[in-house]
Amino acid sequence: MILDEENLQYTINSFSKEYNIIGEIIYFSQFFKHGGEKNIFKYLNSIRKGEFLSNERIVFFQDCYDEYSYDASENSPGDCISLIQKYLEKIDITNCFVTILSSNPDIDKEIRAVNKAYSTTDGTLINFINILGDYKKVISKQDTFCALAWKEWFLKPDAEILPCCSYDRPYNLGNLKTESISDILHGKNVKALRKNMLNNIKSPGCQTCYYNEKNGIESRRQKNNKKISFSKEDAKKITSSDGDVKDKHIFLNSLELSLDSSCNLKCRCCSGDSSSLIAHEEEKIFGTSYHKNKILKNQEKNKVVEEIIPYTLNAKEIKFAGGEPTLHKGHYQILDFLLKNNKNDTELVYSINGSNLKFKNKSILDYWNNFKNINVSISVDGNKRQFEYLRHGSNWTTLIDTIQKIKTISPHVNLGVLSVISSISMESTIELQKKWHISNIVSADKFLLQLITGHNGQYDIQTLPESHKKRLKLIIENHCVWLHSVNQFGSVNRWQEIKNYMLAADMSHKLSQAKRDIELFDSFRNENFYETFPELSDMFDNIKPTKH
Ligand code: SF4
Ligand code: SF4
Repeated sequence: MILDEENLQYTINSFSKEYNIIGEIIYFSQFFKHGGEKNIFKYLNSIRKGEFLSNERIVFFQDCYDEYSYDASENSPGDCISLIQKYLEKIDITNCFVTILSSNPDIDKEIRAVNKAYSTTDGTLINFINILGDYKKVISKQDTFCALAWKEWFLKPDAEILPCCSYDRPYNLGNLKTESISDILHGKNVKALRKNMLNNIKSPGCQTCYYNEKNGIESRRQKNNKKISFSKEDAKKITSSDGDVKDKHIFLNSLELSLDSSCNLKCRCCSGDSSSLIAHEEEKIFGTSYHKNKILKNQEKNKVVEEIIPYTLNAKEIKFAGGEPTLHKGHYQILDFLLKNNKNDTELVYSINGSNLKFKNKSILDYWNNFKNINVSISVDGNKRQFEYLRHGSNWTTLIDTIQKIKTISPHVNLGVLSVISSISMESTIELQKKWHISNIVSADKFLLQLITGHNGQYDIQTLPESHKKRLKLIIENHCVWLHSVNQFGSVNRWQEIKNYMLAADMSHKLSQAKRDIELFDSFRNENFYETFPELSDMFDNIKPTKH
């Protein structure tokens, strides 16, 4: 990038007269070094304050091009700016305290695009200053092929279609509420995605994979390309130059279906996006709910199922997820359709909440007994008392009864537990895993441990105070020793990863947000966090202020 150095220096000098630059100016070129992202995350976290003065600014300098640059045709921001916006959200720094210096003539559009895609706050934009210079966009060419763009589909509860669950929602492929499946399968979004992948160009929705790859972590893209026997050469044979694929060549191997958000629980780890009950509660608490307006009406639910059903015939695997799939009429319609077409060898994968096995006069166990391959994960975190708190509306006795019924009536079902690991659930989940293994309810190796991040970042285990991290580190280490002693090695590595993750960053400034959230829902649901989790009752002593 050719820059007018004199102009840059002049800009910095005049900027410094008006504003106090916090720390050092952060150069975009740091992003291109191996692990640069992590360093910048750590640096931003270290200079974060509970309160910035109105004349204080964190300054970035766009001294080189993004690896994936702003694309005006898709209005998709470059990868560096996207990461900056995501980090500011995670670390809790308000955009108005951040300025980007750049010679990119599109910087204003790019900042608007990144705000729309990744900022959850009030639309306050990151500031920018244009510096004279020659800025040319570059599109980096590297292998970006991903079989999932041809072979998998992920349906969100509001009828949005994504190629996989790691894909960024702002770049979704379409929505079945307003479009037909044919529109989406031949639509401009999926065509652009496939075309990019065949031409080694990065796509804005796939940044999670690129980020992992750059940091030496195997991405979903890499894992699936090894697993699915569908190569780039195979894709080229059936894909036209504009990215389109003819209907006769479309076979979706795997479908992950959240048919709608109907659910009978209000889990602390969840949001109104996945649970209709939470969406209704949000409206009662806050007077309005973004999620409630997205709940599908009966007519829309029927349309989604009608559109999806023909594509279930060739799927090797169908995953049913939440809301609560056992309460979704469409789920039973799909099973009826598969059985009518002798597809009882389709692998069915469930994530259920363990509170229900029936829908009207239909028993899910009767259905399961007609299928050969069933994997069921029941969502459980914590022992009885903590479980009923963390998954509001659940009942421990019903949960145990559900597990016993599945084991007795449908013994061929591969049954496991999905535990969401949060700052409040981790300790009681460790106890649960041990207790259930010893009492032969579910073996320790059948626990899938999912870390909570994202919209519920206030429950992220990195927010725990130092004293609790030390205590929990020991608990995890002792638990791993026990897992070894009973030959349950499956989750040892996962617990080690969880421990490392917990210790990797200090996000304790989010504790005040967690406290506010917990106490608000406690008062609304007539619950008491401090009595339910006495071991964590001092968690909010000495909390740091959050962003203002
Ligand atoms: S590259 Fe990654 S995010 Fe994109 S579709 Fe493939 S797995 Fe999903
Ligand atoms: S059961 Fe699933 S969908 Fe329902 S509230 Fe809990 S996490 Fe959300």
